Amino acid sequence: MKKQILVTGGLGFIGSHTVVELIQENYEPVIVDNLCNSKTEVLNRIKKITGVKPEFIELDVRDEEKLSKVFASHNIFAVIHFAGLKAVGESVQKPQLYYDNNIGSTEVLLKVMDKYNVKNIVFSSSATVYGNPKRVPIYETDPVGEFTNPYAETKVRIEEMLIKLSKQDPKMNIAILRYFNPIGAHKSGLMGEDPRGIPNNLMPYVTQVAVGKLPELSIFGNDYPTKDGTGVRDYIHVVDLAIGHVLTLKKIEQNPGLVIYNLGTGVGTSVLELVHAFEEANGIKIAYKMVGRRPGDVPECYANADKAYRELGFKTKYNIVDCCRDSWNWQKNNPKGYDK
Ligand code: NAD
Ligand code: UDP
Repeated sequence: MKKQILVTGGLGFIGSHTVVELIQENYEPVIVDNLCNSKTEVLNRIKKITGVKPEFIELDVRDEEKLSKVFASHNIFAVIHFAGLKAVGESVQKPQLYYDNNIGSTEVLLKVMDKYNVKNIVFSSSATVYGNPKRVPIYETDPVGEFTNPYAETKVRIEEMLIKLSKQDPKMNIAILRYFNPIGAHKSGLMGEDPRGIPNNLMPYVTQVAVGKLPELSIFGNDYPTKDGTGVRDYIHVVDLAIGHVLTLKKIEQNPGLVIYNLGTGVGTSVLELVHAFEEANGIKIAYKMVGRRPGDVPECYANADKAYRELGFKTKYNIVDCCRDSWNWQKNNPKGYDK
């Protein structure tokens, strides 16, 4: 019998790539998503890649009644909880929306899991919980909680909620995964990141400049105390990240209790390095200009990824050039994302 994995937000960028890996590893994903930042076309793409169209139920995770019906009618082994809003700028404009959606959905999810005696959960946290890190690379034991925006605050609060729950209920297995900067796309060119409107994040902005949708990239600050003055991040290929979830499920199967992992490459890449890698990988020039710093940005953020390697066997396969090639392959084959 295949293990059923409930994947909240499973039609989104990271969720969809994880669903593909789950299917390929013989799990049975059951997707719930309210489509606030995704499209059902993703299901056809997953079918093209894997031969399997996963089950999908359209619902908001905050809808306790509908969510309960999903648990009642399935035999859920574990939940991977991706559903959430993630735009930092929007969270500053609409903090309540972020508290309601991200924290509210997790509260409902945990309540329903308890009702149906489901004890296993993997949660999508973020390196943003480290705030402005005191040192790089960042270890899991480094301080968290100095959030700089409501989005980050929701991740910190949910982590606190999960840590408290693990103390109250020793039968719970909880994996908190702190993602660094996911980019790249499935190598088939059938799945990738499809942001609404003008992208906030670097890689989708670069690919939209490359495809001619946007005239030029603005680089936010070249006076940081970094190798070339531009911000440094840990860019991780979304397929590596997806594989990290499968390895985490294998860990969950050993009843580990509470575990926390950084999922990154351990390599810091500057904005300029990323732009040059993109140009070299794809033979396209990216027009850019230097502008002032973006408020709230930290100079450097990259992981020490040793713990995930030691305990999960997690080791990234793809480098920054692979990421740039796959992001561009997705964008050029799908200039309008999942829209026809
Ligand atoms: P995404 O927006 O592509 O996917 C999230 C999915 O959740 C979307 O399909 C959306 O429709 C759905 N959703 C949102 N609220 C929902 C709700 N209340 N009920 C049901 N569905 C809902 O984002 P992503 O990049 O795939 O991110 C997945 C998770 O990983 C998020 O929790 C995000 O905060 C976290 N994360 C992302 C990044 C990143 O840079 N992409 C970095 C760190 C952490
Ligand atoms: N960045 C940039 N121009 C953009 C978007 C991002 O220079 O249009 C920079 C940003 O300042 C940071 C890096 O690229 O140094 C990664 O930003 P992103 O928003 O992708 O991820 P973050 O780490 O901020 O979550």
